[in-house]
Amino acid sequence: MESKWSEEDARAAVERWADSERVNEDLALRVYSSRLIGREPTLVLHGGGNTSVKTRLKDDTGEEVDVLCVKGSGWDLGDIEPPGLPAVRLGSLAQLRAREALSDEDMVNAQRTRLLDASSPNPSVETLLHAFLPAKFIDHSHADAVLALVDQPEREAICAEVFGDRFPLVPYVMPGFALAKLAAEVAEAHPDAEGLVLLKHGLFTFADTAKESYERHVRAVDAAERYIATRRSTLGVPRRAVPTLDWARIAPRLRGALGTEGDRQVHYLLHRRSTPVIDAYLGREDLDDVSQRGTPTPDHVIRTKRVPLVLELEPSMDDAAIDRAIDAALTRYRKDYRAYVKAEAAKKGREVVALDPDPRVVLIPGVGMVTVGTTPKAARVAADLHEHCIDVIESAEAVGTYEVLPLGDVFDMEYWSLEQAKLGKKQPKRFDGQVVVITGAASGIGEATARLFAAEGATLFLIDREPKALEKVAQELAAAHVALDVSDASALRAALAQCVKVFGGVDGVVSNAGFAPQGALHTLDDELLQQSFAVNFFAHHVIAQEAVKVMRAQGFGGFILFNASKAAFNPGKDFGPYAIPKAAVIALMKQLALENGEVGIRVNAVNADRIRTGLLPPAFVEERAKARGLDADAYFRSNLLKREVTAEDVAGAFLSLALAKSTTGSVFTVDGGNIAASPR
Ligand SMILES: [Zn+2]
Repeated sequence: MESKWSEEDARAAVERWADSERVNEDLALRVYSSRLIGREPTLVLHGGGNTSVKTRLKDDTGEEVDVLCVKGSGWDLGDIEPPGLPAVRLGSLAQLRAREALSDEDMVNAQRTRLLDASSPNPSVETLLHAFLPAKFIDHSHADAVLALVDQPEREAICAEVFGDRFPLVPYVMPGFALAKLAAEVAEAHPDAEGLVLLKHGLFTFADTAKESYERHVRAVDAAERYIATRRSTLGVPRRAVPTLDWARIAPRLRGALGTEGDRQVHYLLHRRSTPVIDAYLGREDLDDVSQRGTPTPDHVIRTKRVPLVLELEPSMDDAAIDRAIDAALTRYRKDYRAYVKAEAAKKGREVVALDPDPRVVLIPGVGMVTVGTTPKAARVAADLHEHCIDVIESAEAVGTYEVLPLGDVFDMEYWSLEQAKLGKKQPKRFDGQVVVITGAASGIGEATARLFAAEGATLFLIDREPKALEKVAQELAAAHVALDVSDASALRAALAQCVKVFGGVDGVVSNAGFAPQGALHTLDDELLQQSFAVNFFAHHVIAQEAVKVMRAQGFGGFILFNASKAAFNPGKDFGPYAIPKAAVIALMKQLALENGEVGIRVNAVNADRIRTGLLPPAFVEERAKARGLDADAYFRSNLLKREVTAEDVAGAFLSLALAKSTTGSVFTVDGGNIAASPR
């Protein structure tokens, strides 16, 4: 690891806030070097680590007071801004060290009541540690290389060899008041220390300047990395070659099993990651042993659980055998998790509500590392953390023996109210964890539907044939997407398989793409009618067929929605090429509802009319309006309600049908009222 410090950038940071009343030079430099730490994933990940500076700022009386600016919760060091380092009055905060004990609740209160700005985020749970150490600048990370050296039975000897006497060790204690006091005592006993190494936790460095504190951090991590690299390069770990397995086939079966236990049903998204490092790890002969020892620091436990599930599958297994293997592994995992919670809670005499017993990381040799979350972000965070866990384990085993904390300490962290608070901030949404595929999603009804489902928490996979427009919508909604023409059946099938590989399965389909050719049947080109059938009928069939296969493998139902049309019930002159395949879509919908009701797959259609979208060219609309003696606006309002029907109205109908648990085989009309076109 090399120092990324740049005098030029540091000066630019100071100048950037030169005119600010609230940001002095100390704080500007603190922001600058915090970002250097935060942008290095081998040091900190996803809001991990924290930094501080002791300085003087004006309070609301205009008087300068001693403050500790320390990382606030909810901020990431990598892109931190001054408000992410709230100022806490230092004087009376440091005096708390005289107390015998301080509960977590009292500690949080003590930190909040000393804030200069009441609207600041909660200062880090490690604030008191920063406050009790005397140094001006303090940097703290959970560096992989340092964890690999301290997660060892021989940690004292190894750390003495790597760090000399500049980094005294602090035994493991959970973050909070007790750790803050202990760390301060160790630092006082070693006045020449450049930092502290916290066992099973990470590294602190400190100094009078931002630069020196940061560079001490880099030098310590660099020493650890070099020590590890030498040992890793000379060590041969027995590994087996693992045959590749078909993830698209396994994913929905695993997703369904993960999401179902008795009456409990959860929609998880699966995120698969396979790199040479991950695959080599999965090939370790001792995988069953090393993978089950636990996380390098208990900090990861709330997002990855203590251990991953190892799932061994064979290429020769049929679907039933895969299901049995998944079921056996998962049942064992859940039983073990519940037993651990029960035993640890009993030992401590605590009453806790057990968290769900499902794994967050599943290691499947031949597939890769699969992580589990109710949002794509949760699954990605678990993957990032476990990928680093793998690196720490490989390093630790090269150096000596990977050894983690006893279960009791892991339990304390997993069931610590201040840790759980990090998870519980977001209000759950109706479609959390659900994967919805929408075709024709780049504009009109498809786009409005995508926006509505995204707002309800759905994870989207969008399809459209206009790559640019699709890219724009997908980016805005953070959706996966693929540009294709739905009349290309093999491309459409491949897209569904892609969706399964990316998210683990499919919960709903809004098959919306269509086009509206015209012509009288007696003069019609066969080709035009075939083309219309390819888009307005076969594409609906193909996507439904693929989705049904996935939904059946998952085993928790699903919904399939078609955009039919008024033309399916009430044909217009010269509209045959459009109306006929649309009428067939209604038959398709009923047939699918009939065949799949027993497995909980609901199939419905929306019958919409006269929506201003790109489906009909403006000149055509004008012509039809004129034929009825109307202008275009009046044409769109010529219904019983005298109200123009919008794409958002149709999107609302799709959403209602997706939520209508007792409705299948039905048509939902959205046309402002038209008795002549009502289905009968
Ligand atoms: Zn920490």
